[in-house]
Amino acid sequence: MKYVCVDCHAEYDWTDRRYRCRCGGLLSLRYDKKPIDFRALETHRDRSLWRYRGALPPFDPQVISAVTMGEGGTPLVGIGPKVWGKADYLMPTLSFKDRGAVMLVCAMLQQGVRSCVIDSSGNAATSVAAYCTRVGISCEVFVPSYTSAKKVEQIEAHQATVHRIEHTREDTARAAIEFVESTGAFYASHIFNPLFWEGTKTYVYELYEQFGGRLPEVLVLPVGNGTLLMGAILALDELMGWNAITHYPLIVAVQAANCAPLAATFASGSAGVLTVETKPTLAEGIASAAPARGNEIIAAMRRVGGRFVTVSEREILEARDTLARRGLYVELTSAANHAGYLAAFGSSSMEEAVIPLCGAGLKSAH
Ligand SMILES: *Cc1c(COP(=O)(O)O)cnc(C)c1O
Ligand SMILES: [Zn+2]
Repeated sequence: MKYVCVDCHAEYDWTDRRYRCRCGGLLSLRYDKKPIDFRALETHRDRSLWRYRGALPPFDPQVISAVTMGEGGTPLVGIGPKVWGKADYLMPTLSFKDRGAVMLVCAMLQQGVRSCVIDSSGNAATSVAAYCTRVGISCEVFVPSYTSAKKVEQIEAHQATVHRIEHTREDTARAAIEFVESTGAFYASHIFNPLFWEGTKTYVYELYEQFGGRLPEVLVLPVGNGTLLMGAILALDELMGWNAITHYPLIVAVQAANCAPLAATFASGSAGVLTVETKPTLAEGIASAAPARGNEIIAAMRRVGGRFVTVSEREILEARDTLARRGLYVELTSAANHAGYLAAFGSSSMEEAVIPLCGAGLKSAH
């Protein structure tokens, strides 16, 4: 398995503990994966995402069994006639981040990493901290000071050291990177480390199985730093390459109107992410004013013919209440996805769509 620079194409072995190329470029990942035999999976007993092992990074089986908490295999729940929620809030740490974090922690355990650093708006750090503590890897977590108290409590319960950083998500990332560069600690970043997408891509594999060997017409996906979105697009490209699908579903990427640099960039036609004015949003998990992989996200969304929608604070709160009345209690960030579906198609739509219910309601401060 190799890291490959997206700019200069330099290659590094995956045990090279770097988070960027020497040239400063971001890293992608390359390894041999086998096309998934979805027929054979019908009788496979492992319901976790490790049922797709042949198409996942080749970690040692003992490493996987030490780290896994059975993540993946989440149900589809009806929300409307042709609309389903995928209940990723049922993950071990209550958000979809477990799909990616389990990959990062397997990689660390296999190469003998003893301590790591992560910055996040809350859920990614919770997830990395949880998997790390299972296998005795110590974890320095950087979160913005506005992160919900529930998430911080959960992180501390998993024995991580929490650094609360004033101001924005971007200041938090800068503080984490300074710490990484001054200590040489492993940067277990869900944004920089491309292993994370190798886990989030299983969201789409599962949908493919749940729809009986096809995908829904529309995939609504949140986008802050784009880790679920880019994992989903990675899976779509693999499924295309394996001739399992013949076209991309419509991808609707959701941002909070208060913090929508990617939606603005997409609309402007620019290749480079624009600097836009942002305001705080209740959807703390997608509040990324300057996503590190923004240019890649924009290019991928243009390539697959997706679209962006933005949602207001009021729409987010209403969507949370609407879902709660359907029995589904999700965090406000996750309610934004349902608001995004409504913004894109309206409440009487018959579009066949799946919306990620990707964070549990008990994580929100409001
Ligand atoms: C992390 C997170 C998001 C946003 O994911 P990105 O990778 O930043 O695009 C959305 N919803 C929930 C619940 C999250 O935890
Ligand atoms: Zn490079």
